Amino acid sequence: MSAMPPGNPASNPFVSSPTYLMACQQLRNVAREINLDAGVAERLMLPKRSLIVSVPVRMEDGRTEVFVGYRVQHSLTSGASKGGLRYAKNVDLGEVAALAMWMSWKCAIMNLPFGGAKGGIAVDPAELKGGEKERLTRRFTDEIQNIIGPRVDVMAPDMGTDEQTMAWIYDTYSMKVGYACPEIVTGKPVELGGCVGRKEATGRGVVYCISEAFAELGISPESATAVVQGFGNVGSVTCEELVKIGVKVIAVGDRYGSIRNDRGIDIAKLIAYVSRKENEKKTIVGYPEAEAIADAELLTTPCTVLVPAAMERVITVENAAKLRCRVLAEGANGPTDPEADAILAGTDIFVIPDILCNAGGVTVSYFEWVQDLAQFMWDEEEVNLQLKKQMLRAFKRVRDEAKARKFGNRLAALSLGVQKVSREKARRGLYP
Ligand code: NAD
Repeated sequence: MSAMPPGNPASNPFVSSPTYLMACQQLRNVAREINLDAGVAERLMLPKRSLIVSVPVRMEDGRTEVFVGYRVQHSLTSGASKGGLRYAKNVDLGEVAALAMWMSWKCAIMNLPFGGAKGGIAVDPAELKGGEKERLTRRFTDEIQNIIGPRVDVMAPDMGTDEQTMAWIYDTYSMKVGYACPEIVTGKPVELGGCVGRKEATGRGVVYCISEAFAELGISPESATAVVQGFGNVGSVTCEELVKIGVKVIAVGDRYGSIRNDRGIDIAKLIAYVSRKENEKKTIVGYPEAEAIADAELLTTPCTVLVPAAMERVITVENAAKLRCRVLAEGANGPTDPEADAILAGTDIFVIPDILCNAGGVTVSYFEWVQDLAQFMWDEEEVNLQLKKQMLRAFKRVRDEAKARKFGNRLAALSLGVQKVSREKARRGLYP
C-alpha cells in the first residue's frame, strides 16, 4: 500500500501537506504490521468529509478581509466526530485532515464514542484586534453550520482558540437553532455548561502518562528534570502539574523564544509574568529569573523528560539523534516525524505518543458532552478521578499491545486505534 492516499495525486487536495503525508505514512506502517484489509486502509486514508469556506470579516479599520477556514471530518463510523479548531497563520486543508485522522485514533484508544475531526482558520490570532476574533469565529460557525451538530460534529479549543472562542460558537449555533445548545462545543466556560477541569485536562493527562512511564522506568519524579516547548494551554498546565509531582522544569520555549534555568523555573512566577497586562504578546521571553537560549537548543537540552507542547514536526531527522531525554512525552499533535521516529527507535528514549499522551483533553471533552446532554454536572473531583482512570487504562492497553506484538509505543497506540475503527467499519458494513 502506498503512503499516498487513493486517487490521482495531481487532483488530490490533501497531498501538498507534509503533515498529511506523515499521517498517511503512519497509517501505512501500522496497516502493514497488523495486516489491515487494503480496502479499509484506503477508506481510512481519506477523510469522510471536508469543507473549505471563505470567511469575510469586517476589520477594525473598516476594511473587509477574507480568511480561509476548514472543517474536516475523518470518520463518522464511531459516533459524532470530535476535534479542535485551530487558528494559525499557515494552517491548510492537509494539516487539518492529518489532525482529524489522529483524532480518530485518539478517540478509539480512549474508547470514546466519537470519530475524528479538526478545523482551522488560516489566521495569526495575535494579529487580530478588537472584535475581529469574535466576528471571524461567528461567521465561520455560520459558514460550517450545515455539517456540525451535537450528534454530528462537536468542536473544542486547539492552538490559538480558547474557552471564549467556544462560547461564541455556542452562542452563534444556539441563535440559529433557536434554543440553548451547550453540547455543540466542549471546552467552553464553566458558567455556560463547560466542564470543570477541562482547561487543565490535556496537561494533567500528559503528566499522568509521564508518571506511569517514570514508574515503569524506576525514575523518581524528585530526581527528574523537564524541558517543555510551548507555554500555552497544554504546555503551561503540564509545567504546573510536573512541579506538583516534584519534577524540576529547567527550560521552556514559546513562539517568541526559549529560556533556561538549571536550578528550576518557578512556574507560578512564570505564569504571572506571562499574564501581566503589559506583556502584550503573552510571552515567556524576558522572564528575569532565567537565561535566554537559542530555540534550536531547547529540544536538545539534557533532561529526564522532554515535552513538545506547541506544534507538529519539530522533531525531525535534523535533531532526533541529538535529543538528550529519557522520556519523550508528546503533548502536541504530531511533533515527531516518521524519519525522526525511526532514529528514536534506535535509542533508549521512552516515547509516549501524542494520540495517547494528549488524549486527556478529548476525554474530558467527552465528559463535558455527556454532562450537557444529560443536563447533570459533575464536580471536579469526579472529573479528575475519571480522567485519571481512563488515562491509566489507555496507557496500560498501549503498553500491553507494545509488549505483546513487540511494537514501539507509537505503533502500539496506532495499532489499537486503527484496529478499533476498522472493526467498527467491518461490523457496520459498506453502504449500500
Ligand atoms: P496554545 O495556542 O494555547 O499554545 C501554543 C503554544 O505553542 C504557545 O505558547 C505558542 O507560543 C507556542 N508556539 C507556537 N509556535 C511555536 C514555535 N514555532 N516554537 C515554539 N513554540 C511555539 O495551544 P495548545 O492548546 O496548548 O496546543 C498546543 C498543542 O497541543 C497543539 O499541537 C495542539 O493540537 C495540541 N493539543 C491541544 C489540546 C488542548 O486541549 N488544547 C489537546 C490535545 C492536543
